[in-house]
Amino acid sequence: MTASNTVRTRFAPSPTGALHIGSARTALFGWLLARHAGGQFVLRIEDTDQKRYVAESEQEFIDMFAWLGIDFDESPQIGGDYGPYRQSERLDHYQKWAQWLIDHDKAYRAYDTPEELAAINEQRRADGLPPGYDRRHRELTAEQEQAFIDEGRVPVVRFKVPLTGKVVVNDLVQGHIEFDNSTLQDIVLLKSDGFPTYHLAHVIDDHLMQISHVTRSNEWVPSLPVHVHLWHAFGWELPQYAHLPVLLNPNGKGKLSKRHAGFSESGKQVLVLVKEFREAGYLPEAVINFLTNIGWNFGDEREVFDIEEAIERFDIGRVNPANSAYPIEKLDWLNGVYIREKMSAETLAGHLRKPLEQAGLNVDEATLQVVAPLVQTRIKTLNDVVDLAGFFFKPDFTPASADDLIQRKMDTAGMIAMLQHAEQRLKTLDDWQTDALHSAMLTVVEELGLKNGQVFGGLRVAVTGQKVSTPTFESMEIIGRDESLRRIQQAINILQAG
Ligand code: GLU
Repeated sequence: MTASNTVRTRFAPSPTGALHIGSARTALFGWLLARHAGGQFVLRIEDTDQKRYVAESEQEFIDMFAWLGIDFDESPQIGGDYGPYRQSERLDHYQKWAQWLIDHDKAYRAYDTPEELAAINEQRRADGLPPGYDRRHRELTAEQEQAFIDEGRVPVVRFKVPLTGKVVVNDLVQGHIEFDNSTLQDIVLLKSDGFPTYHLAHVIDDHLMQISHVTRSNEWVPSLPVHVHLWHAFGWELPQYAHLPVLLNPNGKGKLSKRHAGFSESGKQVLVLVKEFREAGYLPEAVINFLTNIGWNFGDEREVFDIEEAIERFDIGRVNPANSAYPIEKLDWLNGVYIREKMSAETLAGHLRKPLEQAGLNVDEATLQVVAPLVQTRIKTLNDVVDLAGFFFKPDFTPASADDLIQRKMDTAGMIAMLQHAEQRLKTLDDWQTDALHSAMLTVVEELGLKNGQVFGGLRVAVTGQKVSTPTFESMEIIGRDESLRRIQQAINILQAG
């Protein structure tokens, strides 16, 4: 904890591309921890890897977090008392503290060339050792150093890790972790270009930014002992560490990755980038609920909860340390719950406009408002509205084929007779409303000795042009009397021609 006892957590992404759903979940847990404690959540951009830097990334992160509803108290955009919040703007800190470590005999300059390092690794491999550095410059004399400098070599700064003993950490998620110092490497802290490695930058920044809890992916566990030694070397108070489990591919094998995601067993495309969830018509509240349920549970067997409830209950100590297979199948169900139960039809209408317009449809508000309640119980994603009810907004009606019109256990003649009979009844109807349409068509069912599905289904295909749509009579009410009758006549013509 920091001196002030304030919980401060951070999300520290490297801007190397679009925001990954696994990173969003790591951020979410840090955010929940801070919000639960009434603390602060910081965005720090770790842009020290020049080769992998993607300029658009930072803005993309900000847009995606805004969409998800994860807010920051401090960031490069918002500012704050501990800035700058981009590591590339903090190089003087890293250089200053690297020098401090050298001055205190806790780090050293190493002048090895890439070829020499390759040769060391070659030798280690031959000796059956893991790759690494053999510490040959750990105790250079001033003369030796000068000789390398005179040769024009540019050094890196390496950490003098303790060579014996153990390091023990109590991780809030992973529990007790222990490492033998003899297994550690004299890792590079400052590269020859003057940029820090993650190891150095993380410790300095988390200290200077007064981060109380480091919530990050468990992929960093192997580096943890070195980080702990760095904190000790500086004489700074350690933050609490919470190494979070990562998301695995849906089959439970390997870390979830864009390249390997593909399709789940049931043939569902496995979405990996946060922007893909938005594009596919998921609600941010459902995505957040979905992510919160992976590796943490609300308790009381509840899978659906508002974010405020999750904040209230969140306990980092109850996060399951094991990596989880990505339960993408759950998201459709959850999103459906949010569409059905967590919003009014009017609000839903607002959400449906975008996917409809993106499908090239012409959305008039009055129709949208009457269509929204009809789709509300029938869609899983916002985009589903296009297939189910897009026909309401098409400038021209696309009639169905004869094949689609003909219902189960019926033939062309029977279909024509049914539609003609229905047409007669409908023409005499004064009241063109769902209930009246329904009872009129029940009469047709009886009179012709057919099944409900044959009559209602046949009419559905005739008036909507689709086999799957919003319910038949509600749809006919919206389409209106003249247009519905015109379409039924058109269907009869199609059957007669076919
Ligand atoms: N930049 C590191 C990453 O993207 C941050 C890890 C951390 O949160 O400390 O993996």
